[in-house]
Amino acid sequence: MSGLEDGKITFYTQGAFTDLCRGPHIPNTGAIKAIKITNIAGAFWKGDEKNKMLTRVYGITFPNQKELDEYLLLLEEAKKRDHRKLGKELGIYTMDDDVGPGLPLWMPNGTIIIEELEGLAKETEEAAGYKRVVTPHIAKESMYIKSGHLPYYEDSMFPPMELDGTKYYLKAMNCPHHHKIFDAEPKSYKDMPMRLAEYGTCYRYEQSGELFGLMRVRCLHMNDAHIYCTKEQFAQEFRAVNEMYLKYFKIFGIEKYVMRLSLHDPKKLGQKYINEPELWLETEAMVRAVLIETGTPFVEVQDEGAFYGPKIDVQIWSIIGREFTLATNQVDFAQGKRFNLNFTNKDNEPETPLIIHRAPLGTHERFIGFLLEHYAGKFPVWLAPLQVKILPISDKFMPYAETVLAEFKKAGVRVAIDDRNEKIGKKIRDTEIMKVPYMLVIGEKEVAENKLSVRRQGKGDMGMLDKSAFLAQVVDEIAQRLAPAE
Ligand SMILES: [Zn+2]
Repeated sequence: MSGLEDGKITFYTQGAFTDLCRGPHIPNTGAIKAIKITNIAGAFWKGDEKNKMLTRVYGITFPNQKELDEYLLLLEEAKKRDHRKLGKELGIYTMDDDVGPGLPLWMPNGTIIIEELEGLAKETEEAAGYKRVVTPHIAKESMYIKSGHLPYYEDSMFPPMELDGTKYYLKAMNCPHHHKIFDAEPKSYKDMPMRLAEYGTCYRYEQSGELFGLMRVRCLHMNDAHIYCTKEQFAQEFRAVNEMYLKYFKIFGIEKYVMRLSLHDPKKLGQKYINEPELWLETEAMVRAVLIETGTPFVEVQDEGAFYGPKIDVQIWSIIGREFTLATNQVDFAQGKRFNLNFTNKDNEPETPLIIHRAPLGTHERFIGFLLEHYAGKFPVWLAPLQVKILPISDKFMPYAETVLAEFKKAGVRVAIDDRNEKIGKKIRDTEIMKVPYMLVIGEKEVAENKLSVRRQGKGDMGMLDKSAFLAQVVDEIAQRLAPAE
């Protein structure tokens, strides 16, 4: 931590030693119990190669050996589970210089995961009364002026393109398009709440230094939806969104999470925040009340709200204890007015709806990046790009292997045969590297008894099983979207 931040210089004095540093220092070295040197690097005095070479020693210390060991284990695990490494090894996504930085290309295996996630979202949203929509990737400048994204959000948008004397922007968010769909037909209180959902593609300008694998990108696919509701409906709608999160956390085995409620700063009304002092306080109180009422773990932070309302960042932890920001919910009392949206209320008067922006599965980019780390690439069967691999011991058993393939395919299982002329040990190893959940080894005995020798990823041999019973079990595991047993 430098002592020069914000143009302020700070010193920290301890006994006779004054350091150009923000501090604090530990009072004495007796507090250091467990040390690990993590890196050693050469550095020239004052950065000049004519000067003497010095050695810079990097280290880490914990109050006890146990905590240090845990930390080192986490580092090692995180390295093994790095989503960029696994993404490449498992054929999930790639980046290409000609396409551009921050623009991931989803490979066939990654696309299967995307489609499974979208399937889950569609099913869940349909059951919760959402309607699906599809919108273009660009819009005229006038729409973003109306929404206030211009000029507030301009730095995060791609520069405009000009067409017939009009400026068009790549969409950085789907909201304005959805508002236009809400507005396309007259609404009454009977149409409320109205929930519009879209896996929308957005483009955001992130500085090249900020780009990082799938975590920071310039093109993202968002599990987006906007809920238009009355003030009376708000708490119930917000609670339902919360429940959707909890349902997803269960499916993906996410055990630790917290909602971070970002509030406005009254001193910055009219600049960073839309100038509606009372509405800010009112909506912040409503969100807080729902979080308290539902027992959702949350923290509050000042001066981090969106420009049109309070926002809730959802922080989740992977199985190895690393923190991710999954998604953001926003409460929006400004856009309805800006877009002149209304519905006819019970008193036959026009009324502006409140809007909830929500994206429980975040973006495909960030969520799949998270899942790669969370599962260490060992996806549960329903998400695995290839669910079952058939490994015949030799060519002699190919006809039976083909029959098994056809049966599993017909049942909707993603299955393939390893028909290479390789030893069975190598076939098993290669399939394990690709983290395919199930392997079916086929030889003399399996053919004679019309059975399958099953191996489960990470667990090994499950023995010889009846073919149709095993198929039924796999189909059920997929349908139930069971989390991995680990
Ligand atoms: Zn939105």
